[in-house]
Amino acid sequence: MKYCLDCDWHTAAADSDQRDRSRAAIDHYVETGHTIDSSESLVRPTTPDGLGTVLARDLTPSSD
Ligand SMILES: [Zn+2]
Repeated sequence: MKYCLDCDWHTAAADSDQRDRSRAAIDHYVETGHTIDSSESLVRPTTPDGLGTVLARDLTPSSD
């Protein structure tokens, strides 16, 4: 799944396919400027304190 570090936005496991989830993550990033991260797990991991770096590795089209 992909999820936002700044709000409760996330993609659900059942959402479309991976490309659509990536697209949704990009759209959320563009619209809000929020930081999107991703995880292979189905639950949102705990975000360590102080993690403020934009994790853009999943925001590039070639990452898929
Ligand atoms: Zn957000």
